[in-house]
Amino acid sequence: MYDRRIINGLVYQDGEFKPTNVYINGEKIALISPEEFDAEQSTDAAGLLIAPGIIDAHVHISLNGAGGNLSCDDYRSGSIAAAYGGVTTFIDFLGEAAGVSEMRNFFNEKMEIAQDTLIDYALHASAKDLIDSAEDMADQAAAQGTPSIKLYTTYRPSGIYSSPKTVEDFIARSARGDVRIIIHAEDDALINHENKDARNLAQNRPPECEIEEVRKIAEWTRKHQGNSYIVHVNCGETIEMLKEEFSDILHKNLYLESAPQYFVFDESVYGLEDYYRYTITPPFRSVEQRELLRKNWREISVFATDHCPFTLDAKRNAEGNLAVMPMGMGGMEYLFPLMHSLYGNKVIDQLTVNPAKMFGLYPQKGVLAPGSDADIVLYREGPGVIDELHSAADDSPYLGLEVDAKIVSTMSRGRWVVENGELREGSAGKFVFGRF
Ligand SMILES: [Zn+2]
Repeated sequence: MYDRRIINGLVYQDGEFKPTNVYINGEKIALISPEEFDAEQSTDAAGLLIAPGIIDAHVHISLNGAGGNLSCDDYRSGSIAAAYGGVTTFIDFLGEAAGVSEMRNFFNEKMEIAQDTLIDYALHASAKDLIDSAEDMADQAAAQGTPSIKLYTTYRPSGIYSSPKTVEDFIARSARGDVRIIIHAEDDALINHENKDARNLAQNRPPECEIEEVRKIAEWTRKHQGNSYIVHVNCGETIEMLKEEFSDILHKNLYLESAPQYFVFDESVYGLEDYYRYTITPPFRSVEQRELLRKNWREISVFATDHCPFTLDAKRNAEGNLAVMPMGMGGMEYLFPLMHSLYGNKVIDQLTVNPAKMFGLYPQKGVLAPGSDADIVLYREGPGVIDELHSAADDSPYLGLEVDAKIVSTMSRGRWVVENGELREGSAGKFVFGRF
C-alpha cells in the first residue's frame, strides 16, 4: 500500500514518455511501474503528460529595483505563480557580497524571508569586488549549500559590479569543481550610459556588449579550466562565436542559459506605445539575432525566466527614464508553456534535469525516479491562450499569447500545490542544499 499514486498517464523518463504509474511514499517517489498497486490516494492522469517538476534556475524575489521599487513577488506570491506554471523549485539570488561574513548574513536573511514559500527553493550566492579572497568566498558559498556564485560585469552605479580581476579570480577558483561561476555578461565599457531614454534600450546596449564580454569570460574559463555559466544569453551571434572559437570548452567548462522572453519578443517592442512593459536588461534584440538564437536553441543548457516583475504603475511612473525605471519582467508561470510551444517535449531536459545537475540539486530534483523528491507536473497538450496571472504583478507582457500546453496539477514533495487548477493551501517549501 502506497501513500499516493498517479495512474493512466504518460510518464517522462530517460527522454521519452511511457505509459506507466508513479507511486509515492511520503515526500519521495517510491516506484515507477506499469503494474497496478493500491494507494491511499489515487489520481487518474488519463490524457495527461507527467514530467518532473520544472526548475526555474533564475528568479529574483523581492528585489530592490531602480526608483525605490521592490519587485512584486515575495516568496508566497512567487511560489504560487510558480506552482501554476508547474515549477516546483526556483533558485533565487543572495545579495551581492564583498566578504565572507556579508555572504553569510545575506544567506540568513534570505532563509528568514523564504519561510512563506509553498514550493522548494535553492539559492545562488552573489559577489562583487572583494574584500575577502575569491578562495574564501567560494569556500563559504559551497559550505552553505549555495555553490553557484553570481557576478555582474556591469551596473557600476548600483555598486554590484565586479572588475575583470574579480571575475578571473573566481573563474580560476572554480576549477576545483565545488562551485560554478554565474555571470551576467555585458561589457560595461561598450554600454551607452549617457542616454537615459528607455526607448533606446536596445541601441544603448548593442549585441557587442554581450559578445565581447562572453569572449573574455570564455578565454579565462579556458585558461583556468574553470566552471562558468552565462545567464540570459540573448544574441544568437554570441553562440555562433562560441561554437567557432571555443568548441573545446562549450558544454564542458562553459554553459549557457537563456530566457523565454528573448525567444518570443524582439526590439520592435521599444517602439510601442506601452514600451515600458518591456524594459529589461539585457534588452530585446533584432529579429535576426533572435532567429539565430532560435536556431541554436540546443546549445542552451538551461531555460530560466529571470523573473522580476514590477507593477504597471511602477513602470509607468518612471516616464521612460532609465535612471529610475525598475528593470525586469515576470514569467515563472509561463516558462514551460512558452518553451513547449516552441520546441515541444524536447525542451523538458533543459527545464528539469539540466538545471538540477548544473546547480548540484540532482538527483533529489530534476528527474522522476525512485528515491527522488516527488516533484511532479501534470499537463495537457493542445492550443490555448495565456489568460491567467497568479503573480502579485498586475501585468505580464505574455498575456494574450498563444501556447500549446496547459499545466493541470503540480505536486511538491508528495503534496499537491495546484490540483486541477485549484491552489491547495498548507504546502510548505524547503531550502534545497546544493552540492557538487
Ligand atoms: Zn537576473
